[in-house]
Amino acid sequence: MDLEEAREALFAQLVPHSASECIPLAQAQGRITAEVVRAQLPLPPFPASAMDGYALRHQDTANHETFRIVGQSLAGHPYTGSIKVGECARIFTGAVVPDGADLIVLQEQVAEVITDENGDKIVRFVPHEADEDYIRPVGNDVQMGHPMTQPGDRLSPLLLGALAAAGVCEIRVYRRPKVGVFSSGDELRDPGTPPDALTLGQIYDSNRFTLTSLLRHLPIELIALDRLPDDPDAVEEALTEASRRCDMLITSGGVSVGDADFIGATIARLGELSFWRLNLKPGKPLAFGNIGECWIFGLPGNPVSTIVTCLLLVMPSLQVLCGTIPKPLLRIPATLSSPVSHRPGRAEYQRGIYSQNEPSSSALSVKHTGDQGSNRLSTFAGANCLIEIPKDSGDLAVGADVNVLPLSDLLA
Ligand code: AMP
Ligand code: MG
Repeated sequence: MDLEEAREALFAQLVPHSASECIPLAQAQGRITAEVVRAQLPLPPFPASAMDGYALRHQDTANHETFRIVGQSLAGHPYTGSIKVGECARIFTGAVVPDGADLIVLQEQVAEVITDENGDKIVRFVPHEADEDYIRPVGNDVQMGHPMTQPGDRLSPLLLGALAAAGVCEIRVYRRPKVGVFSSGDELRDPGTPPDALTLGQIYDSNRFTLTSLLRHLPIELIALDRLPDDPDAVEEALTEASRRCDMLITSGGVSVGDADFIGATIARLGELSFWRLNLKPGKPLAFGNIGECWIFGLPGNPVSTIVTCLLLVMPSLQVLCGTIPKPLLRIPATLSSPVSHRPGRAEYQRGIYSQNEPSSSALSVKHTGDQGSNRLSTFAGANCLIEIPKDSGDLAVGADVNVLPLSDLLA
């Protein structure tokens, strides 16, 4: 399967989590809504001034040179009287426009303010045409009852702000799926072990670190799991036990065809293997299946392969499980500014840096980050995209057209 075929197969197979819970808005960032939430009031809830100035009757501007100031309306402190012929109220942005007034004259139009013989304050404006009324009518932003969310919407900071403004303080969201992350390999040691305590052949377990950090972008509950040794019985026991506790398991390493690679075979023995191997570089030896009710991804162990498959396949699949629909991959055309070597056969995702050709131009160019070995985590240093090299493509010269997949989109 090619990448897009694999994504389609995954999205068709995975079933969203249907259980939901009601939580305070303050805790809802990143969660997925399970209901239509409607505005509890219109916004603004009252006719509001859009500017600082004077509220008065539009029709009076034809035959009055001066207006008596009868009060003031500040945000949160409305003038509760009504504006009559020849009167006005001092008013500020966000304040209630008093009854009777249908025009805000901007304070920039004031010629003078004087106090008359009765002690009243009188304002005179410079002659001008009122180009706008500067009044935001009730519901001008959001109508009462307007559906603010649909089931499956991700609660972004921006949406949370809109809900707060619309009087929503609690929201029904899908429960967070439980996701367990395993590393596998006898060579792995925990980050934090002093370098001189590593014996020959040992390396740090970086994949679990990257995977758990990537998955924290999603509304899931991460379950801490042990590392899997290169021992088939221990792998079988650990996967069996974890599959009972989790909605999805993600392993890295041990899924290739080496003598110490037991993950694929163990999934097949304990459950069903939907696929194993993809037409993808990096990321070829990827396994997906289920053990009972628990989905499982066996990701390749090379750190770059782990990350690329997590970004392109695991995170979107988890979005389905979380109750939302993954977006199609964003592909942006760019021109190569470094040559790329590629053998036809598998689509390849190289780490790249794209930039605008000129500050105001929409044209992008992209260069790769050096030797693209799938062990080389350093290819991610400074990268802001994956460069997609189509499967049938051969070597590409400077100036060739490619698509880039921005990392910011893959992480969103
Ligand atoms: P494997 O698929 O288990 O043969 O792993 C492929 C390569 O990735 C080997 O060089 C492993 O040492 C390395 N590798 C596997 N798992 C990890 C991990 N969790 N962190 C860093 N490197 C890993
Ligand atoms: Mg291994």
